[in-house]
Amino acid sequence: MTTAQANRTAAKHHPRRIAIFGGSFDPIHSGHLAVARAADRRFNFDELHFIAASRPPHKLKQHLAPFPHRFAMVALAATEHPHFVPSLAEAGEDFSGTQLQYSVDTVRYFRHAYHGQGDRIFFIIGADAFLDIPTWKEYETLLGLCDFVIANRPGIRLEALRLVIPPDLHGRRDSKREKEEETVAHGTPIVARLDKTTVYLLENVASEVSATDIRRRASRGQSIHGLVSARVEEYILKQRLYR
Ligand code: ATP
Repeated sequence: MTTAQANRTAAKHHPRRIAIFGGSFDPIHSGHLAVARAADRRFNFDELHFIAASRPPHKLKQHLAPFPHRFAMVALAATEHPHFVPSLAEAGEDFSGTQLQYSVDTVRYFRHAYHGQGDRIFFIIGADAFLDIPTWKEYETLLGLCDFVIANRPGIRLEALRLVIPPDLHGRRDSKREKEEETVAHGTPIVARLDKTTVYLLENVASEVSATDIRRRASRGQSIHGLVSARVEEYILKQRLYR
């Protein structure tokens, strides 16, 4: 996000709702975009930032396309919607995307950039990734820094998601806050209320599309039409990615 962008939004006189959606995005696909669109419809975000995650070479479990390719695809996919913003938040100082960057620091960065009264940050995440959150750096702090919107995935129950959150982080019931949440999310189920933040569940948005499947198809020369946006498909073909 640029300073100009932040200033432009700051000029609006209403509290801002900013979503951040991180991933390997190798490549960004129609499943990610469906989640983003559904979350945007439900929560009415002012901006939704797609963050291609950094991946230092020594941390690689699997081979990932280099950061510039993953970012380029995110930027192409983000042209679909005026609220979608391709983010370099995890690119690092040299923009290489090879320095380790933790989500908790990324959220701190966004909180710093959007600190007007009433501004809220929402962290969009798939349910499978949310189940892993206890392995993330300072995850208890992270859960208290911003609201979460979990995109449910087949076979994962609300109770399992709730169990991920340590009992001492759960906040007390507060009817004023419950009313506020209702205005924010129009009946979206709530996984948990923490002291200052809320974890929401976005149902019926997950699809079977996965980046793994798309890479596999591309490597076999099979069509990926419809699984990624047209511009991203064209980019993958022109750059001969995943071949
Ligand atoms: P891979 O197949 O390489 O593991 P992926 O398709 O899961 O990749 P990621 O970039 O790792 O994509 O995912 C980023 C985020 O999007 C994660 O929080 C993940 O849970 C979520 N996500 C990915 N695919 C879907 C989908 N089809 N429906 C809902 N959420 C998804």
